[in-house]
Amino acid sequence: MTPITIAKGDGIGPEIMDATLKILNYVKAPLKYEEISIGKQQYLAGNTSGIAPESWQTILNNKILLKAPITTPQGSGYKSLNVTLRKTLNLFANVRPCKSFHPYVRTKHPEMDVVIIRENEEDLYAGIEHRQTDEVEQCLKLITRPGCEKISRYAFEYAKSNNRKRVTCFTKDNIMKQTDGLFHKVFNEVAEDYPEIESDNMIVDIGTAKLAERPEDFDVIVAPNLYGDIISDVTAQISGSVGLCGTSNISEKCAMFEAIHGSAPDIAGQGIANPSGLIMASVHMLNHIGYGDIAQKIENTLLKTLEDGYHTKDIYQDKLSKKLVNTGEFAEEICKNLGKTP
Ligand code: ATP
Ligand code: MG
Repeated sequence: MTPITIAKGDGIGPEIMDATLKILNYVKAPLKYEEISIGKQQYLAGNTSGIAPESWQTILNNKILLKAPITTPQGSGYKSLNVTLRKTLNLFANVRPCKSFHPYVRTKHPEMDVVIIRENEEDLYAGIEHRQTDEVEQCLKLITRPGCEKISRYAFEYAKSNNRKRVTCFTKDNIMKQTDGLFHKVFNEVAEDYPEIESDNMIVDIGTAKLAERPEDFDVIVAPNLYGDIISDVTAQISGSVGLCGTSNISEKCAMFEAIHGSAPDIAGQGIANPSGLIMASVHMLNHIGYGDIAQKIENTLLKTLEDGYHTKDIYQDKLSKKLVNTGEFAEEICKNLGKTP
């Protein structure tokens, strides 16, 4: 039994987590769950970072966190727990595979199969901001050689172990010659250690434009934090629905798995959310722990369920879908299909 920490979060969080756990329990994934409370409950209890201090130890002990989305309250004084988790746990790599589910889910890009690897700690997100004068605010862009090396190496290792052929680096080093220049330079140095994998660099603006037009031309993309944030939202969106993709946040000491979308307060409590993003996050988690067989089984069955036309509202389409299902029914349909495969 591998111990993992789970957090049900806010909004649609508990609904999609229950659906995911139903599937993990159905396949008897050898996991032991320890639940922590994060988000609204904690903010209301006076923990301005959205997490109880003792929960950090639980996360560090178990090393694996499966996390549903949370809602950060509006207003000053509340810190985003997502940013705090990344920084405190040194989750330096954010990995977002975005693949289209063509022809079962409508997409303009039937052949896309891209993995975005976003540096998760540095860049303009380092949080070094200050007021210079009453009229001037400043934010410092921090890029370090060790940070560039770690994320570039992670991207090539990922490509190697996932049978990917090419890694593309996105920077704006024609303008930011030192910061982005360093990222590009270190990327090239690391690339030399992986002659079997193609590598190239694109300026981020034209690269993103091409990615949006022909995502099938890309394989693995590695980028500094801010560009990675923007391009990974672009790729998730054009793959079909925000409800479909999961993401891994990796550090040397632990890893956190989540759906790419937020807590969707507009549809919370209605039982209509698509749980696929968190289910895919659990697939990434099982692969990471070393339960590749179970991961593959769940992923194949999720695909089959989408293929059979059991669709939640966000992806439901008159001619394509067979049955409109709610969150729980979708999970039940997956369990039924799991029961059929040996
Ligand atoms: P947060 O502040 O929690 O990140 P948000 O409003 O920025 O929330 P999302 O929560 O990701 O962003 O929601 C964006 C839109 O996508 C909403 O209309 C929401 O209902 C929809 N959405 C998000 N996740 C899902 C899902 N799993 N299933 C169906 N629709 C979803
Ligand atoms: Mg959001």
